[in-house]
Amino acid sequence: MDAVQSGWISSIGKYVTRFEDEFASFCRVSYAVATSNGTAALHLSLKAYGIGEGDEVIMPDLSFIATANAVLMTGAKPVFCDIEAETLCINPELIEEKITSSTKAIIPVHLYGHPANMQAIMKLARARNLYVIEDAAEAHGAEIHGQRVGGFGDCATFSFYGNKNLTTGEGGMITSNDTDFIERCRMLRDHAMSSNKRYWHDELGFNYRLTNLQAALGCAQLERASELLAARRHNFEMYKARLGGCQGLRLNRTMDWALNSYWMVCLEVEGMDEVKRATLMTRLIQVGVDTRPYFYPMSKMPYLPDADTPISHHISQIGINLPTYVGLEEADIDYISEQVLRVVGEVKNHND
Ligand SMILES: *Cc1c(COP(=O)(O)O)cnc(C)c1O
Repeated sequence: MDAVQSGWISSIGKYVTRFEDEFASFCRVSYAVATSNGTAALHLSLKAYGIGEGDEVIMPDLSFIATANAVLMTGAKPVFCDIEAETLCINPELIEEKITSSTKAIIPVHLYGHPANMQAIMKLARARNLYVIEDAAEAHGAEIHGQRVGGFGDCATFSFYGNKNLTTGEGGMITSNDTDFIERCRMLRDHAMSSNKRYWHDELGFNYRLTNLQAALGCAQLERASELLAARRHNFEMYKARLGGCQGLRLNRTMDWALNSYWMVCLEVEGMDEVKRATLMTRLIQVGVDTRPYFYPMSKMPYLPDADTPISHHISQIGINLPTYVGLEEADIDYISEQVLRVVGEVKNHND
């Protein structure tokens, strides 16, 4: 209300700076730059590193499409790498063979809230002189050995879309410890306007600003961050107690070095393929349980490069995301779990 009543309703105003400062502290990094959404944050960071035509950027094949689109928007080529079945994140051991003389960056994605193996990725990137942009859109508050994601790569990007762990309706953020990079992001975010000559532009920029109104929401969300993250974790624990030990079902797995932010509860069902999974999801929605399929491998999209990524292709077909909203109650999770067990049984028997 203060942001509305202040009259500063666009992207100038105290809440933008406050949200940036507080989000940087939340990630335990030096700087943060707020953007209009997570895709803009990815695109802006790539542009700030000068990535474009003729360059290649390595990323996991399994991610939300924005990761590849942001690279394509710069004119560079996304190169898809397979994932690890346990973490659902890029397999560091498979990155090396994707590197060419055109490779400029790696974008690990902390998928569904599980952090990618940043230690191995950073070691490789430093040896090969590549930028690392963490796509942390799904992993606010996730940790590796007690350190928050957002502070491992050269920079990281976040999304505050309505279904993410923290939200501003639409919104995004770039985090980094690199002063020069952050200054470049700020300049490019605001039409690349010269800092000492108003309405003068030396290069092509963008309007990727977040509004003061959205930033005020972001500050309020940050005040509740531990409560919101704990609710996701609690949801997962409740699902785990009901579905965890069941034959043929597998929930999110978390490595011992990781703290999962459980953006999504991931359920993998043995023996599924795309058709059987569609039946499963249809039968669940008939009893009021809305689910989502895992992302498709991005290499399957008609406009994106192909890739030989068997794990991504297999996992993509057997997974669904169960309701994860922070307001879910124990009775909801009882009901959802009951229906999942019944419907999975039916779909499997039907096929046997
Ligand atoms: C949500 C998401 C984005 C994009 O965020 P928007 O705010 O929707 O633009 C990027 N990458 C991943 C992995 C995401 O899940």
